[in-house]
Amino acid sequence: MKKLSILGATGSIGMQTLDVLRKSPGEFELLGVTANSSVEKMKDIITEFNPKYLAMMNTESAKEIECFCREKQFNIKVYSGMAGLIKIATLEEINIALIAVVGMIGLKPTMAAIEANKDIALANKETLVVAGEIVMKRACEKGVKILPVDSEHSAIFQALQGNDIKSLKKIILTASGGPFRGKSAKELENISVDEALNHPNWSMGNKITIDSATLMNKGLEVIEAHFLFNCDYDNIQVLVHPESIIHSMVEYKDSSIIAQLGSADMRLPIQYALNYTCRKNEIAKSIDFYEISQLNFEKPNTDVFRCLKLAFKAGTRGGVMPAIMNAANEVAVDLFLNKKIQFLEISHIIEDAMVNFEEHMNTELTIDNVINIDNKVREYVLNKNS
Ligand code: NDP
Ligand code: MG
Repeated sequence: MKKLSILGATGSIGMQTLDVLRKSPGEFELLGVTANSSVEKMKDIITEFNPKYLAMMNTESAKEIECFCREKQFNIKVYSGMAGLIKIATLEEINIALIAVVGMIGLKPTMAAIEANKDIALANKETLVVAGEIVMKRACEKGVKILPVDSEHSAIFQALQGNDIKSLKKIILTASGGPFRGKSAKELENISVDEALNHPNWSMGNKITIDSATLMNKGLEVIEAHFLFNCDYDNIQVLVHPESIIHSMVEYKDSSIIAQLGSADMRLPIQYALNYTCRKNEIAKSIDFYEISQLNFEKPNTDVFRCLKLAFKAGTRGGVMPAIMNAANEVAVDLFLNKKIQFLEISHIIEDAMVNFEEHMNTELTIDNVINIDNKVREYVLNKNS
């Protein structure tokens, strides 16, 4: 039986991971879970899964959960804060940690889990964006597996199985195009938060849903793919594919292409990462090709969706630039969700931060420096926009 922890258990990926566990009786033992402040969801998780360890980032929420456990006589050790997240990511008993917190907050627990020799099922793309070079190098040195959960990267990972990565010519990263595919910049001027949260194919957490609407999600995924598969940016092509059936493709040196297809259901890549290398349980719906009848492809419009262009720029620039871009994006998305800025301002804020922090490009790439610059960029963006 595999023993695991889920960081971000109350989120979209976390809850879908719980469903994978539900549908795999006797295969997994859930030992640790974390959340930020979703107390009610955490109570439900405790009642159903009775994990041994738990952490709430928010201290007050941790206290509430502790009271609940005492009252209902659950024998669970409750931690809080970043130290708590790290504790759950590094539990001695676990084999694998599924990291599904949102944002670069996942970086420290991911690094700690690698140091503790735990395999990682990684949904938290921001961690790879801000420090992919350090994360992948350390995982390699420690012999720890980084198993992608992001559907595109899982698709690439699957398409690479049994092939020599040296014969990889190109990664074709598919994108649904989000809710505003085909729109002009003018049409995007006054769009509302609700419109941006209305993704056509996927149901996800708010932050990634806004990232999908700006195409920053694809930008983050380009950088994620660069680090996961050691692929030059010139050899990563983004392809808009509105049906979200082909989750990504790999082209080999002989120009042969291998794609992974499936319904738009995150439980598929989650289950693959947790069970790697075997395929089990019919978790998602089969695709009916008669019903779909056609698949479409387009070039992304990076003049309108400027975040994608900025991400290629940040990735190619390397060093701490992806961390600068990511911090500005995290703050800008939050400001947009709180109706403090317009949709199109997101890309302007990111670009401004990338220009302003260019002088920090000599910063040595270490975890501490990445966290330091992340804090500085957040402060800068917040000061300028509130
Ligand atoms: P959600 O917003 O739905 O969930 C985020 C989880 O992280 C929740 O458990 C939340 O706890 C916790 N969390 C939020 N902020 C903090 C914090 N400051 N400290 C500790 N924990 C925190 O996000 P998603 O599940 O949508 O996404 C998670 C990650 O997976 C992201 O990096 C995203 O890009 C990636 N991903 C998501 C996909 C999806 O389909 N959703 C697809 C591919 C990748 P609480 O509930 O208490 O707030
Ligand atoms: Mg994805």
